[in-house]
Amino acid sequence: MDQESINSIPGIQFNVLLKDYTTFRIGGRTKYFFIARTKNELIEIIKSARRNNLPFFILGGGSKLLISDKDFNGLVVKIQNSEFKVQDSQIFAGAGVLTPKLIAIALDNNLTGLEYLKGIPGTIGGAIRGNAGASGGSITGFIGDVIKQVEVFDKNKEKIKVFKNKECRFNYRTSVFKENQSLIILSCILQLKKGNKSEIEKRMNDYLEYRKKNQPLNFASCGSIFKNYVLSKSEVSNFNKKLIKEFPELENFIKKGTIPAGYLIDKCNLKGKIIGGAKVSEKHANFIVNFKNAKAKDVKELIDLIKNKVKDKFKIELEEEVQYFNF
Ligand SMILES: Cc1cc2nc3c(=O)[nH]c(=O)nc-3n(C[C@H](O)[C@H](O)[C@H](O)COP(=O)(O)OP(=O)(O)OC[C@H]3O[C@@H](n4cnc5c(N)ncnc54)[C@H](O)[C@@H]3O)c2cc1C
Repeated sequence: MDQESINSIPGIQFNVLLKDYTTFRIGGRTKYFFIARTKNELIEIIKSARRNNLPFFILGGGSKLLISDKDFNGLVVKIQNSEFKVQDSQIFAGAGVLTPKLIAIALDNNLTGLEYLKGIPGTIGGAIRGNAGASGGSITGFIGDVIKQVEVFDKNKEKIKVFKNKECRFNYRTSVFKENQSLIILSCILQLKKGNKSEIEKRMNDYLEYRKKNQPLNFASCGSIFKNYVLSKSEVSNFNKKLIKEFPELENFIKKGTIPAGYLIDKCNLKGKIIGGAKVSEKHANFIVNFKNAKAKDVKELIDLIKNKVKDKFKIELEEEVQYFNF
């Protein structure tokens, strides 16, 4: 894309520092930056980047991202189309609607089904892509459970398409939109249920209290770094007996089929481990916090260290939940 045609795009910004757009407060500069406030702006900027062979990246709330310290010689499009409409028990939401806003809309309209999102930052588009949700405390839920349909722009085919819930292939921290990088989420319809306002509010507040107690919410982070480890059937029946003897709590996790990543990291004595300005949280071992101007490379080194230690001790390969950009 030549400088002249970029300059002609209203609203385009130059050399923008991406750390200002992530909850980790980490990331280098992007050459071009554009905030898409409507669906049409979003589609047009993507078409224009493609026509001009300009690499581009879609940014939601930046709350599940580790962005490298390097500069990005391309375009970052921040999704901010935040229109919404409530009809009976359904909410239509643009992909840029922030989750705190969404749960406030649900509460205002006595709608239940999103309580577990209390305290999760980001956009509804980002939440759908990673099937955000929570299973700690007394509430369990995933955004995929309440999605009726998702409207996407297929950037390769340059076509709008609607995916019904089943076609979204929601699973633990994934969806068809994560598997197929060509799909950009434009909007969605959520199917909620009518409920009692004060009960909904209580569940939200209880859940936030649970988070405050168990997560380092006063530090910059991206939430959990790793997915919990889901055991295969054969691992459930043949888990290493020596390890179970050494770590008896494992038995309970094996019964449930999932071992929390935080447990494994904790048992490797990594809580409080520091590299540069990044630290494994003492409160929750699956959180890495930026406690002092951390660089992406500090976080990445900690991630690699954790993976190696967990593999050595438990023979388990942890998989990142955090998404990398520009490494
Ligand atoms: C303190 C804290 C607690 C958290 N707790 C939880 C939790 O309990 N459960 C949980 O699931 N998550 C949690 N998170 C992580 C995060 O908030 C969520 O996963 C959130 O849904 C990510 O959305 P986002 O808009 O910030 O995505 P981003 O970080 O902006 O993007 C993540 C990925 O999605 C892509 N993307 C974003 N928008 C779109 C779109 N419209 N179309 C296509 N691709 C898109 C991006 O390109 C990127 O690859 C937590 C984070 C923090 C900081």
